[in-house]
Amino acid sequence: MTLGDSNQPMDFIRVAVMDDLKAGRYSRVHTRFPPEPNGYLHIGHAKAMCIDFGIAAEFGGQCNLRFDDTNPVKEDVEYVESIQQDIRWLGFDWEDRLYYASDYFERLCEYAVTLITKGKAYVCDLSADDIREYRGTLTEPGKESPYRNRTVEDNLDLFARMRAGEFPDGSRTLRAKIDMASGNINLRDPVMYRIIHATHHRTGDAWCVYPMYDFAHGQSDSIEGITHSLCSLEYEDHRPLYNWYLDALDIDRPRQIEFARLNVSFTVLSKRKLLRLVQGGHVKGWDDPRMPTLSGLRRRGYTPEAIRDFCDRIGVAKKDSMVDIALLEHCLREDLNKRAPRVMGVLKPLRVVIENYPEGRVEEVAAVNNPEDPSAGTRTVPFSRVLYIEQDDFRENPPPKYYRFAPGREVRLRYAYFLKCVGVVKDAQGDVVELTCTYDPATRGGDAPDGRKVKATIHWVSAAHAVPARVRLYDRLFVKEDPDDVDGGQDFLENLNPDSLEVLTGCWVEPSLAESKPGSIYQFERQGYFCLDPDAAKGSLVFNRAVSLKDQWARIERAQRVG
Ligand code: ATP
Ligand code: MG
Repeated sequence: MTLGDSNQPMDFIRVAVMDDLKAGRYSRVHTRFPPEPNGYLHIGHAKAMCIDFGIAAEFGGQCNLRFDDTNPVKEDVEYVESIQQDIRWLGFDWEDRLYYASDYFERLCEYAVTLITKGKAYVCDLSADDIREYRGTLTEPGKESPYRNRTVEDNLDLFARMRAGEFPDGSRTLRAKIDMASGNINLRDPVMYRIIHATHHRTGDAWCVYPMYDFAHGQSDSIEGITHSLCSLEYEDHRPLYNWYLDALDIDRPRQIEFARLNVSFTVLSKRKLLRLVQGGHVKGWDDPRMPTLSGLRRRGYTPEAIRDFCDRIGVAKKDSMVDIALLEHCLREDLNKRAPRVMGVLKPLRVVIENYPEGRVEEVAAVNNPEDPSAGTRTVPFSRVLYIEQDDFRENPPPKYYRFAPGREVRLRYAYFLKCVGVVKDAQGDVVELTCTYDPATRGGDAPDGRKVKATIHWVSAAHAVPARVRLYDRLFVKEDPDDVDGGQDFLENLNPDSLEVLTGCWVEPSLAESKPGSIYQFERQGYFCLDPDAAKGSLVFNRAVSLKDQWARIERAQRVG
């Protein structure tokens, strides 16, 4: 076995795992990723997976996928399937170790009976509200349930009848008999089983009592022989309860180590909140490219490599913090810069007619596919008398420091010729709708033999050859860095950004894109990275802008170095 075989710096979890192996507390490393199938995975889960699968791999161990499917009311096969797809996409593999907590329902029920027999669990007739009331607060101890001292026989009988379906939902629970005065509220006689007459996505109607997550989680780890149960910080206060169950049952106990949850600015990472965005129609689905879900990020144009790089860079810490979304975008740019083919696309077209270019003539100019990767080669792009350029690259009255196209000025057309603006055509409202231009045939390839210079190079497409496209531009989903920052009585939805999506129709892209496949990602020169959406299959091309070229993170880093 290799110890800590990785380029990763040794964070506190890796140090702890290494110590356990050195001290012989464990002779192997076995972790698990335990999603509840009640929503799609998000970037926070990516962090957890990089830790769970990543650490197992580094120490020559294994990582299981286990669905913690203990709540039939909130769970669905749609989620079970999407979660598996997303884990594979991110590049992790559970091999043949796919498990479900529901596989252990019978075993968990036996554990419950064991605890009853040992006098450590009882059937309680208090309602959910009463249980909450009796639980006390952080500052006051709880009160004992009047049903706490039922006999073992009564408890065994009542639990068997709960399981047999004799009682309605919510009428009884099975609770652990621990300590109603404990400083840790999780230990104040927590509920182990509740009655829910609902169909489970895997066990159907076989059960009407379901274990609480807290009663299932530790035992599931134990059954699977997990050595290191790595989870986010909110489970820290639950660890004493997991350990209490495992010790009371006298079964193997994994070592649980908690790490900080990932929070990313301008978005929310909670399945409950993401579900509200979907159900409320605030986004178009779990895979809307504005969502921080893995399926949304994928559709947006994120690559698994960029997401894993992001998780490596944020590292593993013990304290919750907020990560700047600009870092995630930076990781994507770094990855795509190396790999994405360059193409030309005009988002807001302005027609250009080159007066001195022969009508009907077409030239193929050579264009570089990726300056970062010579092996990507070149392609040809057709050039002709009528072109589209970007409206933004022209000003009739250019302000100071605007160096692009304007009346009387000359610019370079990328990979082609120098172009001079000799006139403008306006519509009835006085808006410029067309430019009359001339080109210099001696500048083919982009340089003037007489050595004269231009201040700007702009992209273009040939009007007769370009392919029509729609483009979706995305902005932050929320206007506040912390969407939960709201006044009393309001909730995070108040902070939604009303302008998070802008759809551009009437865009034109170079003809090489006509045959591209959904999911393909390109750099549109000077504009950003764009991913062909699956909606493209329904007709014309639809591109999602994954990220623009302006790197805010690089700017933040520079400022930090200076400051
Ligand atoms: P949510 O609040 O989004 O529903 P959860 O913790 O309930 O998240 P689970 O499906 O139970 O979601 O999570 C599976 C694993 O992913 C757990 O081990 C959990 O600790 C981890 N995880 C979930 N969200 C984050 C996050 N934001 N950062 C790091 N790890 C996370
Ligand atoms: Mg959960």
